[in-house]
Amino acid sequence: MSKFWIGSKPNNMKFKQIPGKKDLKTQLIERVDQNTLPHALLLLGPQGSGKLAIAIALANYLLCQNKDGLDACGSCQSCLKTQKNVHPDIHFTFPVGKSGKKARKDVTSVDFIKHWRNAIEESPYLSLERWQQVMGDPTSIPNINTQECKNIIHNLSLQTFEAIYKVQIIWQAQFLRKEGNRLLKLIEEPAPNTLLILIAENEEALLNTIVSRCQIFKTKPFQDSEMRQYFEENALSINDEAIFLSSGNLAEAIVLQQGRTSQYSNLILDWMRVSWQSHPDTIFPFIDKLVALGKDERIFFLEYGIHFFRQFGIYLYTKDINQVRLTNEEKDTVLKMIKIINADKSVLIAEKLEEGLILLRRNINAKIMFTDFTFYFGQILRQSVA
Ligand SMILES: [Zn+2]
Repeated sequence: MSKFWIGSKPNNMKFKQIPGKKDLKTQLIERVDQNTLPHALLLLGPQGSGKLAIAIALANYLLCQNKDGLDACGSCQSCLKTQKNVHPDIHFTFPVGKSGKKARKDVTSVDFIKHWRNAIEESPYLSLERWQQVMGDPTSIPNINTQECKNIIHNLSLQTFEAIYKVQIIWQAQFLRKEGNRLLKLIEEPAPNTLLILIAENEEALLNTIVSRCQIFKTKPFQDSEMRQYFEENALSINDEAIFLSSGNLAEAIVLQQGRTSQYSNLILDWMRVSWQSHPDTIFPFIDKLVALGKDERIFFLEYGIHFFRQFGIYLYTKDINQVRLTNEEKDTVLKMIKIINADKSVLIAEKLEEGLILLRRNINAKIMFTDFTFYFGQILRQSVA
């Protein structure tokens, strides 16, 4: 799990925790209550429009032992298991990357189930990019392979463990590609009491034969007020800029909210500049700025700095910007820094930051430490790059 999650971890397994989307929620709840839910449904909508959250809330509602026509109860045995993402009758399929030394054809969702639980616990408004980061290898292209399709068919052929229904959710179903053909029979002649929920951004990326056999439900981007409501209800702060930038994509707004990382990458760049210039007029106001972050944030900032310089080192070693686990903005910072920082210097800086982390945790005077570090970085940076 990334260290860079800030704030509480919202739990979003019920309909009422999903902001807006009143019509869609009502429609799905009615279908369950009237027993007219199709066996296979396809949730279509742009990234960050809440498809996965809706799918989980629907599965939760369907399996809840005490539903009230508006939402799942949240406290029955079934709801408790769904909340922990361990309900044995809810199966998840998602694209996966490399897993250790296993051949790609053998790697399935089961290999990444812990990562998946962490990811959706963090937020069911999950982007593919974020998922790749959580899997720990953002550069390997994920897929849904033949073995996974066989597992789906197997899972849905089993007796239910506890509930009356079995639910299979396929997230990022476009990764099925032609493997989707294997599921046609399952969609056409479903086992009794099974619900298959496919999730994708647009139907063009799916086989026609699949789309035509599913009932389609669409999600629209969130409205600004709905996104604000989400952050408010989860006691998370969000600024207008993030709301504006994400234009209805809640997954992106969450990344922006978490991602003070971009703020930190600028701060790191400024720190290096100030150290290199070594001018009292800029050094001391800058140190005051670092001190003003407060204890937890200072620690977080140094952790970020260590992560940044390790990635920076990887770039210097590989010369391949796509190999580094940084955002595009951070990559820009890397490209600006290579003029004054080589591999040796980046190692020295990262080591110093690690030392700083220990000192800060021992409650050393932050102002003295940051001043000392700034002059030390200045000395290193002004040495000519070999
Ligand atoms: Zn319940």
